[in-house]
Amino acid sequence: MTGSGMDRRRLLIGAGTLPLAGIAAGAGAQNAPQAIGQPLLNNAADLPEAKKVNWAVVGLGNFAVGQVIPGFVASHRSRMTAFVSGNPQKAKDLGARYGVNTFYDYANFDSIVHDKTIDAVYIVLPVGLHAEYTIRALKAGKHVLCEKPMASTPEECAAMIAAAKANNRQLGVAYRVHFEPNNVDVARRCTSGELGTLRYFTGDAGFNADPEHWVPHRWRLQKALAGGGSMYDIGIYAMNASMMCVGEDPVEVSAVYSYPHDDPRFKEVEGGVNWRIKFRSGIFAQGSSSYCYAGGTRQKIYGTTGAIVMEPASDYYQQSITLMPTGKSPETLHAGNPIVQFAAQVDAFSQAALSNTPHLTPGEMGLRDIRLIQAIYKSADQNGAAVPFQV
Ligand code: NDP
Repeated sequence: MTGSGMDRRRLLIGAGTLPLAGIAAGAGAQNAPQAIGQPLLNNAADLPEAKKVNWAVVGLGNFAVGQVIPGFVASHRSRMTAFVSGNPQKAKDLGARYGVNTFYDYANFDSIVHDKTIDAVYIVLPVGLHAEYTIRALKAGKHVLCEKPMASTPEECAAMIAAAKANNRQLGVAYRVHFEPNNVDVARRCTSGELGTLRYFTGDAGFNADPEHWVPHRWRLQKALAGGGSMYDIGIYAMNASMMCVGEDPVEVSAVYSYPHDDPRFKEVEGGVNWRIKFRSGIFAQGSSSYCYAGGTRQKIYGTTGAIVMEPASDYYQQSITLMPTGKSPETLHAGNPIVQFAAQVDAFSQAALSNTPHLTPGEMGLRDIRLIQAIYKSADQNGAAVPFQV
């Protein structure tokens, strides 16, 4: 009903000319409007099977098994057709659980070039292997979504981007929070001016590395497999989020190391960094990254008319987002269920591959972030000296 129709009906009732009983009786009459459920528009689940993208998952470790693979199960445009693993029994067991019956290992990986049931590859290997397997997959003619951080060095990232271009395939970096409803909502509020003029972002991200009891932490402390330390693995979340929220390019960084240098865990990679980024308009972001404190991700964004607190900020299953407008009561936001981020990410990449359009978080973003972390290390090596940065 239009606004004017609504007004007219209210007026008639108010004037006593249209009895309420008449409205109730009229509701059942022929031609009266009825409430009827409608199908979800643009539902990718309705896509014909041929329009789905077929994926191989490379590396069946903790994150792949716990989050990536269940994400595929919940997805609409993406279907797992192959597993690549150095452990054939694990791959077979997982294949039985998820209906995947094509398996490769690291030695015969290149033969995916002949496999028409694979369109895209999701690299979930230790960082030091990202560039090699991404480039091998691209050369085999597959689109590649690579886990964060993109690779060990800017040179490796550039080679991955060049391979994607040379083979006319999409290359994305798996920055999942760009597909997480609460983070997307916060970024929209920040960049749309809802907090007034943005002034400051702060973000902490860390966990206490436990290589003795938790196997996935072991490669994270070896430079050849990890590329870098806490900043590569966990600090990258808040750093990337600062750019997502501020919506500007960084122009300068500074940083200091913040971990006990006699800690035997950190012989090869840094165990913690306090970093600061200056943006083009003069806004600052700062944060901490650590392998030495109890786990957590927290972010706060301050503007001239309000602030947003995110804690946790980049969890798999829960996000707590509180809006704090000046002079009003804080309001807890519920923009959506974080768990959808894993399915949404692979579906977005599938759509990019199907339409041959760049993914929302492309290789270029991954390269920018590795360059930025390298600049952060350069500053920390000089005990906090300002290091200019250009995107
Ligand atoms: P894991 O150690 O649990 O898994 C890595 C897997 O890679 C192994 O299980 C193994 O799979 C394979 N692999 C191949 N070569 C090696 C090697 N030399 N050493 C160790 N593993 C090897 O690590 P995670 O699952 O925690 O991390 C994997 C990737 O996912 C990393 O890039 C990490 O940064 C990223 N990640 C992303 C997260 C996010 O939220 N986006 C969260 C956690 C991790 P197989 O036995 O099948 O061969």
